Amino acid sequence: MEFLPDISFARKTDSEDPLRSFRDKFFIPKSSKGEDIIYFAGNSLGLQPKTVRAYVEQELEDWESMGVEGHMHAKNPWLPYHEYLAAQTARLVGAHKEEVVNMNSLTVNLHLMMVSFYRPTKERHRILIESNAFPSDHYAVQSQIKFHGFDPAESLIEMKPREGEFAIRTEDIESLIEKEGSSIALVMFAGVNYYTGQAFDFDRITKAGHAKGCIVGFDLAHAAGNLELKLHDWNTDFAVWCSYKYLNGGPGAIAGAFVHRRHLLDIAIPKLWGWWGQDKATRFLMDHDFRPIPTIESWQLSNPPILQLAALRASFDIFDEAGMSTLREKSLNLTGYLEFLIKHKNDNNIEIITPSNPAERGCQLSIRAKTGGKTLHKRLNDSGVICDWREPDVIRAAPVPLYNTFTDVWKFVEVLFS
Ligand SMILES: *Cc1c(COP(=O)(O)O)cnc(C)c1O
Repeated sequence: MEFLPDISFARKTDSEDPLRSFRDKFFIPKSSKGEDIIYFAGNSLGLQPKTVRAYVEQELEDWESMGVEGHMHAKNPWLPYHEYLAAQTARLVGAHKEEVVNMNSLTVNLHLMMVSFYRPTKERHRILIESNAFPSDHYAVQSQIKFHGFDPAESLIEMKPREGEFAIRTEDIESLIEKEGSSIALVMFAGVNYYTGQAFDFDRITKAGHAKGCIVGFDLAHAAGNLELKLHDWNTDFAVWCSYKYLNGGPGAIAGAFVHRRHLLDIAIPKLWGWWGQDKATRFLMDHDFRPIPTIESWQLSNPPILQLAALRASFDIFDEAGMSTLREKSLNLTGYLEFLIKHKNDNNIEIITPSNPAERGCQLSIRAKTGGKTLHKRLNDSGVICDWREPDVIRAAPVPLYNTFTDVWKFVEVLFS
């Protein structure tokens, strides 16, 4: 798309946007003046689909009128409720139905996956992650290393970008894995780094890891609902994500997990057991022999929160209607337009640290102000923009193709440079 800097271009593009009706499916928060806020924080908490209430109310009504009978007789029986989301989840991350499940929360799922896939030995005990990975991921990998009796000082490799750069080059990841791979048990990268907005090359990282016998897992917190993913084809061993960011599942939404098909029947893989992982046909015999479901559902421990699943389902129905490839197409233009306008202002206090190659990013641009960043962020907030500030000096702005517009982008840049 050829961009132009004036607002008439933004308005015209919005009017021709094939996804323009989707904004109406969401509640857009209002400013104190009663105007729609410019909401660029969908990377932090996605907005509420208007249909969520009805989906959740259905389950509240059935609980009200049936009590426990709802497990079998609710309009959407609760017993298999998580199964209703499997095909949609699989489409979102590029997987087969049996490879995905919605359960728990992100950090919990990361731990459950590491119980299964981080099995350190004396020779191979290290975990490779990006140095600026999200703190919870750092805590999780450190504690797993310690749990197995190893020392993070030796067993954790934190990969940094080159001096003076913000993104980590794929060739540097490949050569590090090539060099150190035989001591690395697990390569654990974000799909999209929360701070820089860099999207990693799943395919190349996975191939590099596998070539050295490492397990390769991804944290898709900032990638699910943002990028077009092909977890199965990439041969990813496992992945986890939360559903309250781009997936609009609501605060603290139930999270997701992926395990590649080739691992699903491998009984040598250790796993924590709970009754929701037990064979469905005989679960209620209440015996004490664990017969795992032959899908990723065998990682489930508890019966899931139905109200959470209902909310997520409302959002997934919208994703299905829009289609991930159409969303990505708009996203490339929307974020491209944001970059174009910022560069057009030619202000040398402002720098974009997110890669300029569209294939290496999703919705988000991380905008670094060399001076006065916090003041700038406050001005944005005071002017009806919601985007976030990440220490030490980055404003993250994520125009989301489901509900943001080119006009939002234009107005944001006007405030940024006002
Ligand atoms: C948002 C985010 C989290 C948050 O973890 P929860 O377990 O959902 O609270 C963890 N890791 C990454 C990479 C994130 O972006």
